[in-house]
Amino acid sequence: MTVMYQDDLKTVLYTEAEIAARVAELGARISRDYEGKSIALVGVLNGAVVFLADLMRAITVPVHVDMVAISSYGSYSSTSGVARIMKDLDNSVESQHVLIVEDIVDTGLTLNYLVDYMRARNPASVKVAAMLSKPSQHRVKVQVDYLGFEVPDEFVVGYGLDFAQRYRNLPCIAVLKPEIYAGPDTPPTL
Ligand code: 5GP
Repeated sequence: MTVMYQDDLKTVLYTEAEIAARVAELGARISRDYEGKSIALVGVLNGAVVFLADLMRAITVPVHVDMVAISSYGSYSSTSGVARIMKDLDNSVESQHVLIVEDIVDTGLTLNYLVDYMRARNPASVKVAAMLSKPSQHRVKVQVDYLGFEVPDEFVVGYGLDFAQRYRNLPCIAVLKPEIYAGPDTPPTL
């Protein structure tokens, strides 16, 4: 089978079918946990859009969808943890059950900031769904309530995750060949 961007990839970690099965499981768990309630899904642009699109269709309780965009100050290669909201919520989450939908938890600093930001808006609850997590890289304690997969400390792309805006449409999750990102934009994890 030919994989899109094949020459740029070191290894495929999770295939399209494996991702679909995992997202279905997460959706079923979320639907059980929130039975009788509705959920305010808050997706984090741009990386989480693919996961969000699949996850919301695997959830059988009513959902609202909102999106935020967040950026860290400083260069990409030194995640400082000082984040700012580039695009805020369009709707109030007061008294809502917020489920933050994130692509990948690396240091955890972005998620930490976002959880605090949501909690300050008086929701009924705040939980987190993340497609991927790199446990070896966590610098702060973050609670991911619904996790897709753990990944090693390597730079991954696909299923919404980019490098320099490329590879988001790759249907699987793969490790990028180091020579692709060698240079000034070297990712933080390596
Ligand atoms: P954190 O604040 O947890 O260090 O950073 C999380 C963000 O860093 C993610 O939302 C994602 O945008 C980016 N990131 C961290 N690791 C990777 C990776 O392996 N691949 C890609 N494409 N982005 C990553």
